Amino acid sequence: MFQGKAISLTRLASGIVELIIDLKDESVNKFNLLTVSELSKALDILEQTSDIKGLLVTSGKDVFVVGADISEFGAAFAAGPEGVINHLATNNRNYNRLEDLPFPSVVAVNGYALGGGFELCLACDYRVASSKAKVGLPETKLGIIPGWGGTVRLPRLAGLETAVEWIASGKENSAADALTARVVDGVVEPEVLRDAALATLQLAIDGKFDYKARRQQKTSPLQLNFIESMMAFETSKAFVGAQAGRNYPAPVAAIKAMQKAADKSRDEALQIEAEAFAKMAQTPIAPALVGIFLNDQLLAKKAKSWEKKSDKKIERAAVLGAGIMGGGIAYQSASRGVPLRMKDVARKGLDVGLAEANKLLTKRVERKKMTPSEMGDVLNRIEPMLSYDGFDDTDIVVEAVVENPEVKRKVLAEVEQAVNADTVLTSNTSTISISWLAEALQRPENFCGMHFFNPVPVMPLVEVIRGEKTSDRAIARTVAYANAMGKKPIVVKDCPGFLVNRVLFPYFAGFSLLVRDGMDYQRIDKVMETWGWPMGPAYLLDVVGLDTAVHAEKVMAKGFPDRMQRDYQSAIEALYEAERLGQKNGKGFYDYQTDKKGKPEKVASDVAVKQVQGVVQGDANDISDEDIIARLMVPMATELMRCLEEGIVESPAEADMALVYGIGFPPFRGGVLRWIDTIGLATFADMAKKFESLGALYTPPASFADQLTNNKKFYG
Ligand code: NAD
Repeated sequence: MFQGKAISLTRLASGIVELIIDLKDESVNKFNLLTVSELSKALDILEQTSDIKGLLVTSGKDVFVVGADISEFGAAFAAGPEGVINHLATNNRNYNRLEDLPFPSVVAVNGYALGGGFELCLACDYRVASSKAKVGLPETKLGIIPGWGGTVRLPRLAGLETAVEWIASGKENSAADALTARVVDGVVEPEVLRDAALATLQLAIDGKFDYKARRQQKTSPLQLNFIESMMAFETSKAFVGAQAGRNYPAPVAAIKAMQKAADKSRDEALQIEAEAFAKMAQTPIAPALVGIFLNDQLLAKKAKSWEKKSDKKIERAAVLGAGIMGGGIAYQSASRGVPLRMKDVARKGLDVGLAEANKLLTKRVERKKMTPSEMGDVLNRIEPMLSYDGFDDTDIVVEAVVENPEVKRKVLAEVEQAVNADTVLTSNTSTISISWLAEALQRPENFCGMHFFNPVPVMPLVEVIRGEKTSDRAIARTVAYANAMGKKPIVVKDCPGFLVNRVLFPYFAGFSLLVRDGMDYQRIDKVMETWGWPMGPAYLLDVVGLDTAVHAEKVMAKGFPDRMQRDYQSAIEALYEAERLGQKNGKGFYDYQTDKKGKPEKVASDVAVKQVQGVVQGDANDISDEDIIARLMVPMATELMRCLEEGIVESPAEADMALVYGIGFPPFRGGVLRWIDTIGLATFADMAKKFESLGALYTPPASFADQLTNNKKFYG
C-alpha cells in the first residue's frame, strides 16, 4: 500500500494493515523529519481506504523506536518558541490522526520505545510488549519535557502517580514494570509478540475489547477532583523540585504542564504541553544537556571503533599495587566479569585492596543490587598475590603502585619480564610522563597510560594516554578493557597533568590567587557550588588530598612555568605544611567528622581559616560573584583551549566530556567549551581581558583569537 524509506504499509489477509517502521541505512529507528513526513503520508492512505479493519504497528529492527532524532534538535530549538511549537504540531497531528482512525490499533513493542517512540505507542489503542522491551520518556534528562503527547496521554492512561514518576525521572522501565503500571496491556515472549499483538487486535475488531472507551479516556480531562488534584500536583512539584535542584527545571515544568492541562481535552492539553516544551527549549540548559547527550554518543562511537581494532578481547587482567586505586580497579574489573590478579609487595597492601573491594561490594548487597552469592563470585575473580606467578597469561596490566617515579619504572620493568611479548602494560600514574616511564621498558610500544579517577566505581572517565612510542594496538586493547569495565575512555596525548589535571590545576591556581588576594575560601566554595560545581574548589582540594595537590602543582609548574610557576605561598601549601592533608587525615580547608552513615562530613574550621590568613596579601573581599567565577573559570578554559590547540585532546566534545566524567563539571552547562559558546566568545574574551594582569593563565591561546575574529564557536 505504501513503501517509504522509514515507513511501509502492508495489507494482511484479515483486513488488517501492518505499519512497519524500519528506517533505511540506520541501525535503529528514530523519529526524524523524514519519518514524520512519511507517517503523515501513510495516515492519508489509512484514512482514505475504506475497508481496513484494524492497524498493527511494528518495527523492522531490534528496537522499536529510540525517540526523536536528537541531532535535529539544534535546528528546531533555534527556530524560536513559535518554530518549536510548529515543529511539534506536525507530529502531534500525526499521532492524533492515528488515535482517531475509524478502526482499532495495536502496537507490538519489541525493544526500546523511548521518548517520541513511546509517545507513538501511547497514541495506539493497545500496547503489547515483548518481555525484552524497555519503555520510557527520558526527555527531562535532556532539559525538555515530552512534546508529542507524553504528558497528556500517560497520566490519562496510567494515572498521575505513574506519569509523574516516569516523566520526572526520565527512567527506562522494563516491560514487567510497564505492565504493573498499566502502561502496556500485555507482555509476552519475543517469539510470540507479533501473534499476540494480532490476536489482541482481532479481539478489538470483534468488539470484545472496547477500544473506543480507551480513546475516550485518553482524549478527556484527567479524572481527579479538585482537592485530589491540588494535593497530588503540589506534593509532587515540591518533591521533584527538591530532588532535581534549581539547575534542572524540566521535571517540574513537566508536572506544571500536566497540572495546567488536567481539566482540559486532549487537543487543548497538547497545546499546553507544546508551549511548556518551547519554554524549556529556549533555556540554555536544554541545548547544553542535548549537547552532552550527543557528545556522549560520539565518545561511545570512538570507543567502539578503538575496541574493534583491538587484537584481543580482554579475558584476564592484572593490577599492580593494591591500594585505594588498585582495590577500586580490581572491584570494577571483577564486577564487570573480567577476572584479574592483584599484586602487591606487602600482605598489608593486599588486605587494603581486598577491604576496598569488599566494602564496595557489601554496599551493593545492602542496597539489594547484588546477592551475597554474586558478591562471592566477584571476589573469586580477584586473585590476590605477592609474586608474578602466572602473569604470562595476562592480556593487560594496570600499574597502580605508589606515585614514585623510580618505583614505577622498576615495577614496570619487572612485570615486563613476567608477561608475554604482546601483553599491554599501562600505568595509572596521575603526574608522571608516560613517555618517560616507557624508557624503562624493552617494548615501549606496548605501553600507555590508563588513568582512573577516584573513587573508581563512581567516576566514569578513564584517560587513555598515548606516549611517544605507544602503538595503536596498545591503545585499542586499553580502550577495550575500559569499555569492558563499563567506563568512558577518552584517548589523550601525554603531557604534564594529561588532560584533566592539566586543566584542573590552573583552576586551583585561580583559586589560590583569589585567596592570596584576600577572598574568603568558604565564600568561593559557595559561589562555585551555586554556579553548579558539585563541590567548591577548597572542598574538592580536601577530597583530592592537599599532599597530592602540592605534588601535582609542582609537576605542573615544571611543565608550564610561564603560567603555573608561583612567586607566593599558596593556601594549599600552607595547610599542607601544617599537616592538614584534607579528608584523608580529617583536616584540610575544613574539618571532617564521620557521619551516621560512616561518610566524612565537612564542618568549618577556625584553625584552617587562621592558617590561611597567614598567606593573604590583600583585602579583596568585595569581589562580585561574577568575578569570582571568572577568576577561576578563565584559567581552566584557556588551558582547555590550549589542550585542544596542541592536539592533547581531539575534539571539543571529548574535552568537555572529560571534565564532566572526570571531575563532575556541571552537565547543565554542557561543558566548559559549550559554556563559552553559550555566553558568547566576545563575552569570554572580555572576562579574560579584565584579569589579564594576573598572568598568562588569563590569556587565551592564539587559536581563540582566530575564533573570535571569525566568530567561530567550538560547536559548529
Ligand atoms: P596507595 O598508597 O593507596 O596504594 C599504593 C599501593 O602500591 C600500596 O598498597 C603499596 O603497598 C603498593 N606498592 C608499592 N610498591 C609496590 C610494588 N613494587 N609492587 C606492587 N605494589 C606496590 O595509592 P593510590 O592512591 O591507590 O595510588 C596509586 C596510583 O594511582 C598512584 O600512581 C596515584 O598517583 C594514582 N592515582 C591516584 C588517585 C587517587 O585519588 N588516590 C587517582 C588517580 C590516580
